[in-house]
Parts: sequence; structure tokens; C-alpha cells
Amino acid sequence: MKIIDMRSDTVTKPTDAMRTAMASAQVGDDVYGDDCVTNELERLAAEMAGKEAAIFVPSGTFGNQLALFTHCRRGDEVIIYGDCHIAHDEAGAPAIIAGVQLQTLEGRGSLPNAVSIESRIRKDPSDFHYPPTGLICMETAHSDGRVIPLDSMAAVHKTAKRYGLPIHLDGARLFNAADYLGVKAAEITKYADSVMFCLSKGLCAPIGSMLAGTKDFVDLARRRRKIMGGGMRQTGILAAAGLIALRDMTGRLREDRDNAVLLANKLSKISGIACEPSDVHANLVFFALDGNISVDALMNALNENGILANPPEDGLMRLATHYWISEEDVQKVADVFAKHV
Ligand SMILES: *Cc1c(COP(=O)(O)O)cnc(C)c1O
Repeated sequence: MKIIDMRSDTVTKPTDAMRTAMASAQVGDDVYGDDCVTNELERLAAEMAGKEAAIFVPSGTFGNQLALFTHCRRGDEVIIYGDCHIAHDEAGAPAIIAGVQLQTLEGRGSLPNAVSIESRIRKDPSDFHYPPTGLICMETAHSDGRVIPLDSMAAVHKTAKRYGLPIHLDGARLFNAADYLGVKAAEITKYADSVMFCLSKGLCAPIGSMLAGTKDFVDLARRRRKIMGGGMRQTGILAAAGLIALRDMTGRLREDRDNAVLLANKLSKISGIACEPSDVHANLVFFALDGNISVDALMNALNENGILANPPEDGLMRLATHYWISEEDVQKVADVFAKHV
């Protein structure tokens, strides 16, 4: 029985092409700067993100925290919606690594409001009671499955620039967002000074993320990455998979979105499930189950059918589509839900 793993898009294993490229990758020592495949990956990543430079990092969390550590000074304040990964899912790292304080906003990080953000900017830097605002963060595609409209990003960007503040974009699923909006990734990242995106999610690379920005920013990030223990050696083995992720996998994300929308449509027709297909912008499908449904029985049924899924969290269940999930798989998952809900 094929295992249908929909727990996340991080479960994606490398493709055969990636394994072949990894096995034969030319390597050097990236801390000395002479790992040519990593250099090529960083060049391509910068180009696709529309930035001057980029740096390879071990994970998305690492890249986000490196961005905070590079943009900010200790004691700075970072303005961010509380439902964003950096605030919610990175184990309190901003306080530990960059030594910054988060000024969190209530509401949906997938629909950031420039006026609300402006209200949190510290207006009088000379007042020593206040921590200086050092950075504003956005996230798209957001972990709630939605993509920020470009005009909202533009408004936040305009506000930030009025106060001379940098913006960091958590673009773990940047290319899913670009697919949804039908634009090149650079059309999104032009509203941010730095951007992190993951190679290891829907793009199938086994390990790694990129952080892109100006050359000066990336030069400083290289020093900070060393401090964080992220100076790695024969990274060409990983970068070889990363290059395939950027070259070949960014163009097929539409398939994952189509499968996610298909699944949402099917689930929304099952009584006992509340799912809104129009909220599916990327590859994540969220839905609520009626209170009288036995979650244990449902999880057992999924398990018996080879379907891996996380149990509901705060009443919401999430399924992720990705390279290894086909339309037939989606059909089977929907059938199991229809039978057991
Ligand atoms: C997955 C994710 C990250 C972190 O990536 P890891 O590689 O798991 O550390 C950051 N931000 C968002 C929005 C994510 O979905």
C-alpha cells in the first residue's frame, strides 16, 4: 500500500534527479567560499528573489532568525503578526539569538494592515523608555494557507519606508505564493528588504533554505551565520539538490495547488466538515470537524488506509499536498473522510 503522507510538505523526499546530482556533485569548502555548486545556488537564488545576493542556510527557522540577527540590534523591537511562524513556531528564538522583543499584532498575518502596523512603530526614538523599532516582518504564503495580496504588501512596504525601517519576508513557500498570484517571485519580494525561502518543503530538496537581500546585508549575514554555527563545509552535496529545486520544481507548484483545491472541494461537500476552498491559495488545506465526530476513529481509519495526517490542532485539521501526492491520492483521502466522518 502506498503511504500517502499529508502531514506537511516538509516530508518530501528528494527526487531521483536530486539523488543523482547529489552523488556526483563537485564539492569544495563553503566556509572558504570555494564550493562552486553552493556559489551557483546562491547566485541563482538571488536572481530569482530579485536581490543582489543570497546565502545558503540549514533551515527556514535558521534563515528567519539569521535575518532578525542581521537586521536588528539587541533590544530592538520587531513588529509581526502573532500568528506568523517567527513569532509562533520558532521556540522563542528571537529573544535568544537576536535578543529582540516581538511587538505582536492580533489578527491575520495573511492580511497585514499597514495602519495597524504603523500604530506599533515607536515614533520617538529619543525617548529612552521605548525599545527602538528595528524591523517589520511579513509572511507569504502564510502558514494559514493564504497568500498576502500584493497591494497589502505594497502598503506595508510604503509605511516601513516612511520610517526608514527594513522588512523581512518569511517566504518559506514563496514560490507557492508566486504561483497563486501568477507573478514572478521577484514581484513579491520587491516589497521586502530580505527574504527567506525553503528548498526543503514543496521543492523537495532534503535540506536547506536561502536568505536573500542586498550584498551588504548578505555579507553581514555570512558573519552572523558563522556565529550561529551555520558555516558548513561540503555543502555542494546539498546545493546540488537545491539547484534542481529552484530550476525544476518551482514551475510545477500549480499541480500541488490544484490538488489542494480539489481536496478542499471534495471535503467541503462532506457534512460534518467545514472547509472553504477559496481559502486554499497554496498547498495547505485547513478544515474543521464537527464536535460529535470521533477524532480517534477517524485517525485510525486514515492510518489503516496508509494516510498520514496530524490530528486536529485547536479544532482545525491541516493536510498538505506536494510532489509525492497525486490526484488519485487526493481522491482516496477524500473517500476515506467521506466514509468515516
Ligand atoms: C516551515 C516554515 C518555516 C521554517 O522552516 P524549517 O525549515 O522547518 O525551519 C518558517 N516559516 C514558515 C512560514 C514555514 O512554513
